[in-house]
Amino acid sequence: MNNKLKKYNQKRDFSKTNEPKGKRVEQSSKKRRFVVQHHMARKEHYDFRLELGGTLKSWAVPKGPSYNIKDKRLAVQVEDHPIDYRNFEGTILAGQYGGGTVMVWDEGYWEPLSSHPKKDLEKGSIKFELFGTRLKGKWTLVRFKEDNWLLIKENDSVNMFSDINKLTTSIKTGRTMKEIEEGKSTIKKVKNSKKDYIVEGITISNPDKIIFDKPKITKYDIALYYQKVSKRMLPYIENRIISTIRCPEGINGPCFFKKHFETDNPGIGEIKLPSGKGKKEDYYYIKTSEGLISEVQMNSYEFHIWGSKVSNINQPDMMVFDFDPDDKLSLDKVREGVKDLKSILDELNLKSYLKTSGGKGYHVVVPTTKLKNWNKFSDFAEDIAKVMSQKWPDKYTNNVRKENRKGKIFIDWIRNTKSATSVAPYSIRARKGAKVSMPIKWSELDKVKPDEITKEEAIKRLKRKDPWEDFYK
Ligand code: ATP
Ligand code: MN
Repeated sequence: MNNKLKKYNQKRDFSKTNEPKGKRVEQSSKKRRFVVQHHMARKEHYDFRLELGGTLKSWAVPKGPSYNIKDKRLAVQVEDHPIDYRNFEGTILAGQYGGGTVMVWDEGYWEPLSSHPKKDLEKGSIKFELFGTRLKGKWTLVRFKEDNWLLIKENDSVNMFSDINKLTTSIKTGRTMKEIEEGKSTIKKVKNSKKDYIVEGITISNPDKIIFDKPKITKYDIALYYQKVSKRMLPYIENRIISTIRCPEGINGPCFFKKHFETDNPGIGEIKLPSGKGKKEDYYYIKTSEGLISEVQMNSYEFHIWGSKVSNINQPDMMVFDFDPDDKLSLDKVREGVKDLKSILDELNLKSYLKTSGGKGYHVVVPTTKLKNWNKFSDFAEDIAKVMSQKWPDKYTNNVRKENRKGKIFIDWIRNTKSATSVAPYSIRARKGAKVSMPIKWSELDKVKPDEITKEEAIKRLKRKDPWEDFYK
């Protein structure tokens, strides 16, 4: 009998809980895993678990870990859990041991900072480094009385979040606590009439959750929209590093930028790039339409892209000009600006494409690989903005400073620097009305307002000739 997990098994009735049965395994991979599970039990807490010696050493941390080095968080050691437990997310029946909801809050690998972690643990003091998504850097667990330990952040200037309690979704499935509770009814909602497509393969949890009000748009509606446009959209978004806007509780709730790789989802790729100081930054990208939909499942509703592809990250190929007018400027002036830019691009024999931003303006996009690195690329874009501000000094500025913008339009060329992004063609904007950043014909500039295209209108337009048809030709 496996002694280490005996307590774990004794406490649970496996005919009444979905938690995994405890059996000891050898180290599950070359690296040791860790997991933090947010647990809404009788008393809310975070379960902090480190893989060691074939089980997960476990502590219940009532307030959860803190990046503040002054915080000493009580961590009560509890029975070892089986390694499989790291994937457990769901509800434990009321009345059963630990009854309540469990969410995988963070996961990754850890490394002890000494060569004898087991001995450290027995002695009641262990230092280690975490390589999770939300938890990183060096930490200490130190015992002060019986099962009572303190979890403390080491002073290594790694500080990802000032308040970890603001992160309310599962790192694995993107679900909130409420969605996990309702998870009994997590359905693969499949509409299969002629009109509707199937959201293939991906389970959209809480499909009826309202993301936009006025008009009401559900999570499922959004997944369906991206499914329908995916064929048109994918050439511009696939294999480009993305950052997205996530709104787990809809656009009226807290939204945040997501630009780092989190967890392996179907159709999602990971790319690590040097970020100075010998460190690496972990970005992500969409590989297939499945990846696009799995991002929607993770509550990403707006997509921003890099100007290069991951296969050739230092070769920019998509130049974007954005028009940022002084607040009081009319739409006519913005349209005039777009035309002035087009005339300059035409003179240079550069083909250019037009899209609405889905917000306040238009974006002019130039596919080109003539400039062989990011510096040359952004210098060129800046030069064009300069030419415009020299030719029409009363209309345009190439200077980002607001003071220089009075009555003028800032021609935003800065998006053409490495690691800058712009909203992707066909992306919905996570703003009131859910308008789309829509490719349109040049001849439509005066007819289509920047925030005019709804997702229904976008779908209708798919039947017309693609205004960006020869973009990559
Ligand atoms: P508008 O027409 O309303 O000005 P826009 O798309 O031109 O819309 P913003 O949405 O204000 O402008 O974006 C400004 C810049 O910030 C862009 O370069 C954009 O890519 C960037 N940005 C916006 N959202 C994100 C995000 N989630 N991640 C990274 N960058 C973002
Ligand atoms: Mn803009």
